[in-house]
Amino acid sequence: MMEYTDRPKHSIPRPTREGQGGGSLVNKNFLNLAESYLFTEIARKVGTYKEEHPKADIISLGIGDVTQPLAPAVIGALHKATDELASAASFRGYGPERGYDFLRDAIVAHDFQARGIDIAADEVFVSDGAKSDTGNFQELLSAKCVVAVTDPVYPVYIDANMMTGREIVKLPCTAENGFVPELPARHVDVVYLCYPNNPTGTTLSLEQLKSWVDYANREKALIFYDAAYEAYIQSEGVPHSIYEIPGASRCAVEFHSYSKTAGFTGIRCGYTVVPNALPVPFNKLWNRRQSTKFNGTSYLAQRAAEATYTPEGKNQIQATIAYYMANARLMREALTGMGFKVYGGIDAPYLWVGTPGGMSSWEFFDWMLQSAHVVCTPGAGFGDRGEGFVRLTAFGTHENTEKALYRIDSKL
Ligand code: PLP
Repeated sequence: MMEYTDRPKHSIPRPTREGQGGGSLVNKNFLNLAESYLFTEIARKVGTYKEEHPKADIISLGIGDVTQPLAPAVIGALHKATDELASAASFRGYGPERGYDFLRDAIVAHDFQARGIDIAADEVFVSDGAKSDTGNFQELLSAKCVVAVTDPVYPVYIDANMMTGREIVKLPCTAENGFVPELPARHVDVVYLCYPNNPTGTTLSLEQLKSWVDYANREKALIFYDAAYEAYIQSEGVPHSIYEIPGASRCAVEFHSYSKTAGFTGIRCGYTVVPNALPVPFNKLWNRRQSTKFNGTSYLAQRAAEATYTPEGKNQIQATIAYYMANARLMREALTGMGFKVYGGIDAPYLWVGTPGGMSSWEFFDWMLQSAHVVCTPGAGFGDRGEGFVRLTAFGTHENTEKALYRIDSKL
């Protein structure tokens, strides 16, 4: 069982006494953070290349943002809710702290009860997205808790915990272990799991997830389960929620997002499930934390999210997911045909592609940009175990995806 402890490589320069008013003002944990340079560095490299080659038609298969418009049912709900705000009789100001009942009831009915999962509305907290909640929930934990994350990983989990100065244990996810993290050899207090995974695009089976639930219940540990991409699962039997596993409501908090499910990256809405059965009253504590520091998701966003559960809304968002997953399929087939080692992309909008000929992930990024005019995300930006891979996303248009694949093939 392999693991290692985090040592940031690119820490932010420490303030000098003279220069920045004295280091004693600052939370020193922030100075230990690795500089968040991945997307900045990508933007810088792309910007420089464009300046030097103004005619280059660059296609981005890098960043994890969506491209397709919101579903008509969502747009209709937004218009209707906007009109309600235009008259005093139907105006809404501050909403209920945990979110409006209409949305929490729809979440419970469609995302849980429809799958045979027993979650109550008072266990659901509506939020402005999964980034805030996956980043903020750790505030409820002691600074002494040891936190495990996969490597590669969505960086928010690490950085949020480093801000509190917690020890981080990394669980390697490699081609050799099928990107399935092994249970830690030592006790950890919290484990972040994200499935379908960003960045590898891989999933856990029910059995694999069960071994984590059993571990957490045995070790009295918590699992923070990020289900931001569950709507992309196509295969039967892949768990959509950790609560499909018996005993999970005694150890797991689950984060959801409408960002990728329904194109809400700009609208902003998500939710977090904090079961009453957890051994510590985290439900009450999270309510306390949220009602102190968060004033709710907008009424418009919550009505928009509610519309994703109507029959039309469901069909429309499924059609958009099918559009992206057709890209993913095409990318998998084409890249595999070109001789690349390709992982993910079956139940997730991400493909994790091995770099050819021993190139580093940044070298391959440069080659893709300069030769094929395609932008990818270097795997090394997601952790040491991301070296040797790049992440491609299926969130482009069909046309751009086809064009990008053609160009990569013709430049090999
Ligand atoms: N969790 C994971 C794994 C993500 O990849 C992302 C966004 O890329 C988020 C959470 C954040 O989602 P949201 O837009 O809901 O904040």
